[in-house]
Amino acid sequence: MTISFDNITMDEAVAFAMESIHQRRRCRVVTPNAEFALEAKKNPRFLNVLNSSQLVLADGISVIYASRIVGAPLQGRVTGVGFAQALAAAMAKEGKRLYLLGAKPGVAEQAAEKLKETYPGLVIAGTHDGYFREEGDVVQAINAAHPDAMLVCLGAPKQEFFMEDHDGELEVPVMAGLGGSMDVLAGNVKWAPPFFRKLGIEWLYRLCKEPKRWKRMIKLPIYLWDAVKWKLKGDRSNAARNAG
Ligand code: UDP
Repeated sequence: MTISFDNITMDEAVAFAMESIHQRRRCRVVTPNAEFALEAKKNPRFLNVLNSSQLVLADGISVIYASRIVGAPLQGRVTGVGFAQALAAAMAKEGKRLYLLGAKPGVAEQAAEKLKETYPGLVIAGTHDGYFREEGDVVQAINAAHPDAMLVCLGAPKQEFFMEDHDGELEVPVMAGLGGSMDVLAGNVKWAPPFFRKLGIEWLYRLCKEPKRWKRMIKLPIYLWDAVKWKLKGDRSNAARNAG
């Protein structure tokens, strides 16, 4: 079994998340890419956390290519950073409360300043860095801040397990696992320029900036090769599902 993505647009994803805030119903958002898929192949618990999430967004271009290869093409990408920004914009219109969890000390606060500046009306319910020991204390701090949504940027699979482990205790309707997005929102890591984003090759930009990442990026072609094998076997189990 493989990851099953929601075949939806950014607007639909944000509308679904906002509806979850209004209904106070749980919406766990994950943004799997090629690296996630290879990890999920070895780790059934991770695969289960991903597939049981309410929104499974196709962040990477590799996912779009893989969906075409297996004959179940997705409409397009919904990037994690783009989702965070669009959600912040929608929440700002209604004065909703966003909590920022993750990244090195100080980064979430920087992201909070940038977000408040860009989306007037948005309330930052609280912030916490991603290097903590006592998860229970962090859960308490989050609940005490009464957020409507939370960005969980601890890297994968840590962020997905954190969201699942505390699913019952966390009183936050929308929780989105967004990896390195906090660094981008804080302005510490530059998001790829529009040229790269348009072509879907942010990975190339990131590789040029951080050549150390080549070991992680080698997973992209391996993932696509997996898709070719699924296709040859006639396995469409990673086909997109409808958000409904
Ligand atoms: N991180 C964290 N706590 C940890 C490990 C990582 O908060 O215990 C943060 C790290 O500082 C970075 C993000 O999680 O901001 C992970 O970034 P990465 O580039 O690995 O994620 P990607 O965008 O590739 O998913």
